Amino acid sequence: MTTQRRFRGILFDLDGVLYVDVQPVPGAAEVVRKIRDRGIACRFLTNTSTMALESLHRKLLELGLPVERNEIISAPQAALRYLRQESRGRCCLLLSEDVKRDFAVVDQADLDHADTIVLGDLGDELDYALLNRIFNRLMQGACLIAIHRNRFWQTEQGLRMDIGGFVAALEYCSGREAVVMGKPSPDFFRVALRDMGVQAGDAALVGDDIEADVGGAQGVGIYGILVRTGKFRQSVVEASPVRPDAIIDSVRDLPALLGVA
Ligand SMILES: [Mg+2]
Repeated sequence: MTTQRRFRGILFDLDGVLYVDVQPVPGAAEVVRKIRDRGIACRFLTNTSTMALESLHRKLLELGLPVERNEIISAPQAALRYLRQESRGRCCLLLSEDVKRDFAVVDQADLDHADTIVLGDLGDELDYALLNRIFNRLMQGACLIAIHRNRFWQTEQGLRMDIGGFVAALEYCSGREAVVMGKPSPDFFRVALRDMGVQAGDAALVGDDIEADVGGAQGVGIYGILVRTGKFRQSVVEASPVRPDAIIDSVRDLPALLGVA
């Protein structure tokens, strides 16, 4: 199957598409090279929010994937790009220390003087006192950028509430909507499109998550391609209201689909 569409930019989801756990998907590196050789822009999207760019880049290189540092858009990197694309004044970074290192270029202020508050994974530091300070700053007109809005995650000690609930609480109490990074947020995909200088109608996304990847991308007008690797499950696809524009067995079949084989 080959689509008649010609794309100027491709967004690759990382885990489940180019690698699964620590194993590269066969042919993935070659596919990226082939697409780039055709002059098509590539960006690599991940919801990972706890790794600094350097660590993420090193991981991809170790897997043999030909990815440039500036092509990786993790949720924190998207926030950083968003801050550059929009002028958002002085920022308070409520992020883990490792991730914060990537934000050195950002004009910073403490919470009580910030125009923008960037909220990420803080663990136990995110308590009522801090939430209330964020709330008060939002009431004074500051803007909230959430690195993601996940509900919970699994730890060895059991489930833990993630920041999504706190973001929802801050939105509810302040009556102000947060800008949310990470898939499936439209803001995240728009940041990636702007970074490539490509319109949604000229872009395709390849992902293994029908909702977060394909559904999210289609929501902003991007062509959504689902791969049958990673977390792909036929039963999930059948139960989902999302209809991918194309389904391929593996990223290896992408050049044929795009007509660049
Ligand atoms: Mg994935």
